[in-house]
Amino acid sequence: MRKEKVKELVKLIHEINPKDRKIKIMNVCGSHEHTITYSGMRSLMPENIELVPGPGCPVCVCSESDIINAIRLSQRDDTILVTYGDMLRVPTKEGSIRTSGKNYKMISAPHEVLKIAKENPDKNVVFFSIGFETTTAPTAALIEMGLPENVTILTSQKLTPEIMEILVKDEEVGVDAFVAPGHVSAIVGANAWRVFPEKYGIPTVVAGFEPDNLLLAILRILYQIREGKSELENVYRGVVRPEGNVKAQKLMYKYFEKADVNWRGIGLIPKSGLEFREEYNHINAKKVFNLPEIEEEKVKGCICDKIVLGKAYPNECKLFGKACTPSNPKGPCMVSMEGACNIWYRFGK
Ligand code: SF4
Repeated sequence: MRKEKVKELVKLIHEINPKDRKIKIMNVCGSHEHTITYSGMRSLMPENIELVPGPGCPVCVCSESDIINAIRLSQRDDTILVTYGDMLRVPTKEGSIRTSGKNYKMISAPHEVLKIAKENPDKNVVFFSIGFETTTAPTAALIEMGLPENVTILTSQKLTPEIMEILVKDEEVGVDAFVAPGHVSAIVGANAWRVFPEKYGIPTVVAGFEPDNLLLAILRILYQIREGKSELENVYRGVVRPEGNVKAQKLMYKYFEKADVNWRGIGLIPKSGLEFREEYNHINAKKVFNLPEIEEEKVKGCICDKIVLGKAYPNECKLFGKACTPSNPKGPCMVSMEGACNIWYRFGK
């Protein structure tokens, strides 16, 4: 049934496709890129349609400075660093948490921090919380539950709409349309993307993760382009509401506020991330441990920054699949299952 639906959608995409121009459709979600690559969707597209991965991998854009600070914290005898599994392997000029760290533990959900803190009352437990809105909300919920006195949080939280706004202004990227991320949209709401069609004339469609849902989003984009329209549409309505999860948003902004933050390989982007509000300095590891901002050093040969911005594909990197593989990642895009290089290595383009 689903196969039939996919066939029908692909047929409609070819029929509706305005063949006279190249169309670059960007996804900004590692799970979307996974579906596109795993299902071989690019090979089903008309020649003029380009499906390009954008900044959808939180591990890839986590600043080197934040990771190095996490490594250094884990090297202290009085401290345990706690973070998600992918973060342990991200390379920096000082190694990774796994290779250069000392006291660290991996978690899969923020509430596990509480158990570790309880079992280690004589240690500082630092939760290294990274990601987009989808991880900020659970981190805020953890704080709301009440943190034990020995817990602080090292945040490296990024905002998706803000980086997308940078991309639309960059002529080298040349985005014609966005497939907006389903998970992030569930938190921020479909309306968060309204700025793209309304201010920049970029058709934007919120999509889920099944191939047929993504194909439907692409079809709607092409329909808009053919009709000369730019609108916000949502084909993931069962999960994404126009206003999103208002409770989660309120909780996020109770503890955090917008701040200028560093994106790895990209640099400082104004108001593109979240940092603790001043009244929460006592749980802000950056303040408690007086952590410095460390200058980033690019990995030689790695073009991860270009890939994240949709300016290059993984197989354009000379190290791809040779010096750089998932078991020996040289750059951040090869570490996480959401990183474009990792996905392309596992499934082809
Ligand atoms: Fe960087 Fe490795 Fe990707 Fe090349 S293949 S861009 S070195 S992560």
